[in-house]
Amino acid sequence: MRGETTAWASWASYRDSETPLIDIPGGELPTALFFPADYSVGMTNLGYHYIYRKLRESGFAAERFFLSPIPNRSVDGDNLLERFGIIMAGLSYEGDVPAFASWLFHAGIDPSRRARDGDCDPLIGAGGGMTYINPLALAGVCDFIVLGDGLPVLDHVAFMLRQKKHRPEILKGLAEHPSILVPSVHLGGGTFSLRAAKQEDISREYGHGNWIAPKSVFGDALLVELQRGCSRRCNYCTLPSCFGPFRQRPLDKVMGDIEMAAEKAAFGRVGLVTPEASDYAGLSGLLDGIAALGKSVSFASLRADGLSRKMMKSLSSGGWRSVTLAPESGDDALRDLCGKHFTNDKLIDVLCMAKEEGIISAKLYFMIGLPGENIRHVMAIKDLCGRIRKETGLRLMAAVSPFVPKPGTAWSGMNFEGQSSLKTKLTGLSKAMRGLPGISLQRGSVKEAALEYALSWASSRVSGLTAELVKASDGIRQSLLRQIACGADKKEAEAELARLGLF
Ligand code: SF4
Repeated sequence: MRGETTAWASWASYRDSETPLIDIPGGELPTALFFPADYSVGMTNLGYHYIYRKLRESGFAAERFFLSPIPNRSVDGDNLLERFGIIMAGLSYEGDVPAFASWLFHAGIDPSRRARDGDCDPLIGAGGGMTYINPLALAGVCDFIVLGDGLPVLDHVAFMLRQKKHRPEILKGLAEHPSILVPSVHLGGGTFSLRAAKQEDISREYGHGNWIAPKSVFGDALLVELQRGCSRRCNYCTLPSCFGPFRQRPLDKVMGDIEMAAEKAAFGRVGLVTPEASDYAGLSGLLDGIAALGKSVSFASLRADGLSRKMMKSLSSGGWRSVTLAPESGDDALRDLCGKHFTNDKLIDVLCMAKEEGIISAKLYFMIGLPGENIRHVMAIKDLCGRIRKETGLRLMAAVSPFVPKPGTAWSGMNFEGQSSLKTKLTGLSKAMRGLPGISLQRGSVKEAALEYALSWASSRVSGLTAELVKASDGIRQSLLRQIACGADKKEAEAELARLGLF
């Protein structure tokens, strides 16, 4: 038996709480589908719902696994991970890579790809947002990596897994698809023309969640997708450059999904899954349609310059008392440079409107270490929060994190500010904001940001160290972390990605 198991624990109460919205077929290839977070968070990820459904429809007997509360048993059948010969994961961010490797390790599976080469070893694959940013970061752990939108690629994966019997021929067959990176095939030398798969028309595919899952952080919400990609061009953001063109689902399709779900299940809220809800062309009609069904609404993301009174009323009538916005900087000029073209005055107007509609608190996201930043810009965060508090009376939480330049963004060529300089800035800001009534500061971790930077620019060499990291003792772990952080070399990663056709 591999590793520790949770022999006594069962997901029964979670299963019993869920209401399925579609008839999900069986499948004959036992496949563990892992999400590197707690069930309550993973079940709010619509991409995870989609991949589960597609796997089932493609003949995989997929079962869900989460990091917690019961890590090594499946939600769907309480089956132990050791029964699954295929393990796939949805990885959205850099931090998901070590989380996945660690989960494998604690289940008794060697997270180092090179250490698994027999037919008895599970075949490990991954997809998700991280593959758009830098798939090389996964190459130390995964046997195959689905690049880009996973749905159009999974039929090929199913075909190869059915047709081929032995590991090397399965991997060779997987590598025939232009949107599957197979490190053992592609990273040995030569040039390739890989590309991230893109669903051009998202109205033809799935548009809603598979279940209403009340134990998720969104509670009894129906997840519905409005659009993918983003039409704006914030210089630091991976969405426009990495996640494909801006695509919207027609209003009648979205409403059709909601009405269908309302006939099948009881739910109180519609969770709109979209980068910037205010950019959705049919938003006003959609809010009216949802209200007519007696449902409330929640938005995954709001932008100050797109927030209307109607949106705020919809939130407030659904019981929301807090709003989350991302001004990024307290300084108008620096915010403008980031690509967010609204002023502090505009932000305050919007928050005053929120207050009038019953909102009592706001969470505001800021970055430090931005290109061209000086200490005056950092302290502008404090000044802005003070003004907002004074002029709106809202309770404020300022979440401040280091800027991490990412591949594929307009600011990919910018530097990541050193850890000690970032720490000094954060400490100075903490001191300046200490004791401000009604305002709290949430400091992002500088160490985690450094690891995020290292993994977002990891070559396959650095990615191999990540797999070793989770196996290492505490002393060696620190040294490996340093090696990963120092080993990240943009030029090395860019050259490797270019050889694959991905840069
Ligand atoms: S930060 Fe928001 S508005 Fe800007 S590009 Fe990214 S998703 Fe679009």
